Amino acid sequence: MGKKSQELFQRALRLMPGGVNSPVRAFRAVGGDPVFMARGWGARLTSVDGDEYIDYVMSWGPLILGHCHPEVMESLARVLEMGTSFGAATEGEVELAERIQQAFPSAERVRLVNSGTEAALSALRVARAATGRDKILKFDGCYHGHADSLLVKAGSGVATLGLPDSPGVPRSLAALTVTAPYNSLNALDAAFAEHGSQLAAAIVEPVAGNMGCVLPSPGFLEKLRSLTERHGTVLIFDEVMTGFRLAYGGAQQLYGIVPDLTTLGKIIGGGLPVGAYGGKAEIMDLVAPSGPVYQAGTLSGNPLAVAAGLKTLEVIHRPGFYERLDSLSAKLAEGLEERARKAGAPLVVNRAGSMLTAFFTAQPVADYASARRSDTDAFARFFRAMLGRGVYLPPSQFEVAFLSAAHTGENIEQTLDAAEFAFRTLAVPPYRAAASHERPQARAALRAGGETSESGPPSRPRPLTPPGATEPPAFPSPSAGTAPADGKSVRPAPPSRPGAVAGGVDENDPPACSTAADRSAVSNGKRLHD
Ligand code: PLP
Repeated sequence: MGKKSQELFQRALRLMPGGVNSPVRAFRAVGGDPVFMARGWGARLTSVDGDEYIDYVMSWGPLILGHCHPEVMESLARVLEMGTSFGAATEGEVELAERIQQAFPSAERVRLVNSGTEAALSALRVARAATGRDKILKFDGCYHGHADSLLVKAGSGVATLGLPDSPGVPRSLAALTVTAPYNSLNALDAAFAEHGSQLAAAIVEPVAGNMGCVLPSPGFLEKLRSLTERHGTVLIFDEVMTGFRLAYGGAQQLYGIVPDLTTLGKIIGGGLPVGAYGGKAEIMDLVAPSGPVYQAGTLSGNPLAVAAGLKTLEVIHRPGFYERLDSLSAKLAEGLEERARKAGAPLVVNRAGSMLTAFFTAQPVADYASARRSDTDAFARFFRAMLGRGVYLPPSQFEVAFLSAAHTGENIEQTLDAAEFAFRTLAVPPYRAAASHERPQARAALRAGGETSESGPPSRPRPLTPPGATEPPAFPSPSAGTAPADGKSVRPAPPSRPGAVAGGVDENDPPACSTAADRSAVSNGKRLHD
């Protein structure tokens, strides 16, 4: 980490809990101190110390067009001239709701809010009101924001009443959340057999991104849909991450399943704070002022977020958008697997479209228990080696790397070259290599790549481009195409299903964490989220 980042972090530590405004930014799961960023452009980030990185965090998903997409920036500039917020209805909100409804026909009514957390808690409230029931079902490893009812970890057993996952969550509220392992058909049967008549809602990430990328096993979402229908339970697809990411119409379009309610966020705000929930008119019309379920927001439908979101949705609706993103992502996933294989590093890459996670394990990852068997210490070292070579990955094994339209084939090649180096260093614990006289090659590799010590901060990256050289961001041309005349979305090929197996889980399996920081982060089934 550079000097300015270090100084800022020391100041931040005196001012903010852990020095950050969202936990995963603090790098606790990977060791070292966070890099402070100053600028994003295309697929790249520049730190306050002037170091450049290829970015695979992409603000945790919203930036599907990359940083500072010219059309989005132009829209924002136009809105800025008109005023930043009115607290009154605007045309843009209507247009955004129309676009969302066009992409997600299940959203007959839409309400805009300010974050994914707000969308999820509001969807739960209206589901409880619609059914007159209190209990909800959620799945281990899925994250839906930090509302009390959703910060719940599994109890012991296959489908159990939950326990608070954070101090401050009332036990009595957590006890209303039934939890079950993701991808387990047996657990679904058990949960509905025991609690079905009391379940207001079942909420699920249709492709999970918050235990790392985990795809639904064949039949899992279908079974969930049929059981919720049978028991009068509202099915909520949390598409905050997957909406407009996996396909224009999200995971529900890809898998052909119609939920009762959908939550959205991230991409629909084009990088500004936003969220939305929508669904069946008969449920959504219960929301105030149509109905009695209260939910409101000072900045909801904020003109800036709406403008950035609208332009983003317009650009990603152009023909060929998802196909290009998918083939670039496939290249990265396949390249990582191949380079890991060559280096003898056990690695499973799960990918759905432009979301992917490289798990440091030899076994398929199909649920939270199998994700937790990954070698998080190896991941942390990999992360630091990549950072040292100018690749900014999500700083946790249990997160997803995002690609954007701004990434290029050259970025992927540079990333794979960095990964090849990083995989090789994994075979040699750096603290031993640095001290050893028998391992000159490893020492040289470490010096070149920049990993310094097991627990020390990552070193500064090597420059990605020669000084003075600038690589223009690879934005798709605005004239690249227009939306299909029928207004339908482009339907990409379904994502590959690596490692997707029907999941049995072992509830008693201890977390496979090696670093103290990661142990403390995961020990209660709790991960750090941005
Ligand atoms: N739901 C999912 C699936 C998410 O991935 C997230 C955040 O990453 C949220 C909800 C919460 O969204 P926010 O961070 O905007 O509150």
